[in-house]
Amino acid sequence: MVQSIEMEKTFDIAIIGAGPAGIMAAITASDRLSVVLIEKNDSVGRKILATGNGRCNITNRFAEVNRYHSSNLDVVKNVLAKFDQSQAMKLFENLGIVLKEEDNGRIFPRTNQAQTVVDALSHELYERNVKVKTNSEVKGISKENDRFRILLKNDEIINSQILILATGGKAGHHLGSSGDGLFWAKLLGHMITPTFPALVPVETIETWPKEISGLRVEGKSTVTLDAKIISEKSGDILFTHFGLSAPAIMAHAGELAPHLGKDLKIHLDLFPDKTGKELDQILAKVFANAGRRTLKNTLAGLIPNNLAPVILKLLEMNAERKTAEVSKIDRLKIAKILKDLKLTVKGLRSFKEAQVTSGGVSFSEINPQSLESKIVSGLYFAGEILDCYGDSGGFNLQWAWSSGHLAGEIIAQKPVVA
Ligand SMILES: Cc1cc2nc3c(=O)[nH]c(=O)nc-3n(C[C@H](O)[C@H](O)[C@H](O)COP(=O)(O)OP(=O)(O)OC[C@H]3O[C@@H](n4cnc5c(N)ncnc54)[C@H](O)[C@@H]3O)c2cc1C
Repeated sequence: MVQSIEMEKTFDIAIIGAGPAGIMAAITASDRLSVVLIEKNDSVGRKILATGNGRCNITNRFAEVNRYHSSNLDVVKNVLAKFDQSQAMKLFENLGIVLKEEDNGRIFPRTNQAQTVVDALSHELYERNVKVKTNSEVKGISKENDRFRILLKNDEIINSQILILATGGKAGHHLGSSGDGLFWAKLLGHMITPTFPALVPVETIETWPKEISGLRVEGKSTVTLDAKIISEKSGDILFTHFGLSAPAIMAHAGELAPHLGKDLKIHLDLFPDKTGKELDQILAKVFANAGRRTLKNTLAGLIPNNLAPVILKLLEMNAERKTAEVSKIDRLKIAKILKDLKLTVKGLRSFKEAQVTSGGVSFSEINPQSLESKIVSGLYFAGEILDCYGDSGGFNLQWAWSSGHLAGEIIAQKPVVA
């Protein structure tokens, strides 16, 4: 039932945030109930358009709980199981999106366009009569006489029996998610676990990465805290003007954030498929055949040519020296640094550059079967606002689809409000 009294409107359900979680909740809950989806941007799914470099890595065939990070993985597991990646893929296919699978189970729309996903979801919102209110920033929330009162920026008021907070975390806030929902959740009595940027580049104390900014290599990166390993990743590593980026680096952020300021080092192994001894044997062979080439030119056959002078500078070796003159001790030093190129962590780039938020609304005061607040009845949460984030590869969107679907489905089963 929808009523209108000048600047005041009433719906059964109000959802704040038209990201993937809010859209999924709206689509799922809208069978019998009137739903308003409130979004401050001028269109829905703005962040979806930025996902997967504009291609939208919509889910992952291997979206299991071990790819997620949270203070309560039992709840995460339960939520994922209620609407898993196969069910999400089926739903998208029913919406007319043809999907394709790439490496490591990553699923994309076949068009390679995130716009395809946003268009299909927007159409479904329309078909289901969800009232979409864009350009509508929520400025405040209160609960009076069993109804939520939601104040919009233009002084309009939305009343609802049920409220879903799907405002995202703090990551990528230029796309809309500025942490508003976390603020309201706290005001309403919810505990928020400490939040950090996750899936974000790392700043290093050493400035030499700037000299090779833009260079991308493949390898293994290991983070140590006081010389103990706390995180290991393999894949692309990018040198930047501030330090390091790309998936094999960004994936460490959530792990190292709580320890910033301590003795954190990143160790790059540029030959993870070879032992130190094997690499030295390769170097010995290459050096023996180097003829009159300089050390710098010889190394350029093994590693990118702009990296070679940087490595030699770090070892304080003359790059123009004849390869034939290099001693075994120096050759071993080169093999060692290629297996363990050390950098010191200075910090993380900001939420603006982060893909997701580590931490959020704690599950301790939320019903795990419904995602309803145990403190404020009728209040639900979905998506990145909750204390859960996933690895890179489609896992975060799956969390948004799963949690949005669960909240929407539970609400849809409630008796219709008079
Ligand atoms: C650059 C980038 C690339 C990514 N790529 C991928 C990928 O390929 N695959 C993957 O799985 N994940 C990816 N992610 C992560 C994924 O996009 C997020 O985890 C996901 O969008 C979270 O969904 P959500 O609905 O919870 O929040 P959001 O998508 O952040 O949506 C929240 C919405 O709430 C609105 N809102 C906030 N406050 C208010 C307010 N006061 N009033 C009204 N509206 C408000 C915001 O404008 C926003 O539209 C990427 C993230 C980024 C930043």
